Amino acid sequence: MTDGNSPLKSIVIVGGGSAGWMTAAALADAVGQSCSITLVESEAIGTVGVGEATIPPIRNFNQRIGIDEATFVKETAGSYKLGIQFVDWSRIGHSYFHPFGQYGAEFDKVPFYHHWMHEFLDGKISGPIDDFSMCWAMAKAGKFAHPQADRRKIQSTFDYAYHFDAGLYAGFLRRLSEARGVTRLEGRVVAVSQRAEDGFIESVTLENGAVVSGELFIDCSGFRGLLIEETLKAGYENWQHWLPCDRAIAVPCEKQAEITPYTRSTAKSAGWQWRIPLQHRTGNGYVHCSEFISEEDATETLMGSLDGAPLAEPRTLRFVTGRRRKFWDRNCVAIGLSAGFMEPLESTSLHLIQYGILRLIALLPDSGMSPLLAQEYNRQTTAEYERIRDFLILHYKATTRNDAELWRYCSAMEIPDSLQYKIDHFRSHGMLVSDERELFANPSWIAVYLGQEIVPQRAPAIASMREGVPVAERMQMIARAMQEAVAEMPTHADFLARYCPSPLAS
Ligand code: FAD
Repeated sequence: MTDGNSPLKSIVIVGGGSAGWMTAAALADAVGQSCSITLVESEAIGTVGVGEATIPPIRNFNQRIGIDEATFVKETAGSYKLGIQFVDWSRIGHSYFHPFGQYGAEFDKVPFYHHWMHEFLDGKISGPIDDFSMCWAMAKAGKFAHPQADRRKIQSTFDYAYHFDAGLYAGFLRRLSEARGVTRLEGRVVAVSQRAEDGFIESVTLENGAVVSGELFIDCSGFRGLLIEETLKAGYENWQHWLPCDRAIAVPCEKQAEITPYTRSTAKSAGWQWRIPLQHRTGNGYVHCSEFISEEDATETLMGSLDGAPLAEPRTLRFVTGRRRKFWDRNCVAIGLSAGFMEPLESTSLHLIQYGILRLIALLPDSGMSPLLAQEYNRQTTAEYERIRDFLILHYKATTRNDAELWRYCSAMEIPDSLQYKIDHFRSHGMLVSDERELFANPSWIAVYLGQEIVPQRAPAIASMREGVPVAERMQMIARAMQEAVAEMPTHADFLARYCPSPLAS
């Protein structure tokens, strides 16, 4: 039986930044030749061009769309990322590491972290939990190797992601997409026509007069949201009261001899500075709140703390943290910055793009464009944004810094009830309350709670009931196994040179 609806025959993507080309590559892979995919972009408008750090799920995305890792890292002048070092976030002079992977290794029926917390609160351990992170052991030694599959080995307890050059990434995906049949049109969209009866988008018109029609439109036009907002007026939920940074100054500088396998985020008086090492340069930026610092002073701060000579003029990017009220409206789906932006602190934007695309593929409509599909897409995407939002707010809220207005504001601000509930559990008995669909799993929350110096009043009760478990001995064995494993690994620089050297690196 058929309801008269037919599979989509034409999809139009507006925008050729990371979002546009990730969408094109993945959709072309998913729908094959049965549906035409056209991407419109304007070189004159350009792209945001930052977005250089990622989190581990990008590896699944790459695998799914058939990208070979060595080729990908080489062509994007990329490097490996084991986590983020947070400097001066809790207080000046203090730092911690958010690793991609677990702490320690399982040796009893309760999670390693429960034992650690029990020993720590009993005064039997004085160092940070970082001492039991394989990622941190590798990161501080400047080492990298792929994790091993054998779960009995300590080398299986970490994960990794990448840093890459966003411009090279879009070019790489463009070549891949065009090889898969995507048509690219160069030109600025100057008009959008809508169906009179329901406002569905029918076509976009380019400056040269070309009219590009489609059944489904993907808005990847960046912050402006050319289709989703300027045309369909989907609305924006502003989260600046929780995530107050609204500007970034970005500048690349000369690379250092040691390419560190991690991102560094250093808290400053009015925001924080990123440092992202690539094979041919180091990316830097000062994300800040314009209410508390002028653009001139922010630029001066950034330029005064680079660890190499600048390679370009500093660039200012402006944004409003929050999300689109409807990510999918009528026959238009917003993916990328047009859907929302929560600042780059935990490198979640490219991840949200990736999951937006995979969710769209899972819910792909036919010509009937059922509103139920849009409703479900919006429900899932809203929940995902809110979970990530809470994790980001935690970094700002849980600070003891009192030296600057931004930090005084953040430590005093009201936070979402959903986050307060989690913090209350952790503070009271070290319990981790997480949703199974949470992007940031328990080790990430542990890293940020403890790193921001929230110490539970007591350890989870179960750890103290595990009688006869030689906890101290097991912990020492784990720490020793980590050191031995790291000692055998190549340096990150050697690994890159051997496995995926960029021609731009020399
Ligand atoms: P854009 O890059 O802005 O692309 C928009 C596209 O739309 C362009 O091709 C443009 O030409 C086109 N366009 C616009 N208007 C028209 C028109 N009228 N006609 C035709 N074409 C048009 N994400 C991470 O995951 N990790 C990070 O470390 C990270 N760091 C960031 C740092 C900063 C300061 C910022 C602002 C963002 C960062 N992001 C990061 C986010 C990341 O950069 C973006 O999510 C990603 O680049 C996707 O951007 P986009 O493709 O949506 O938009």
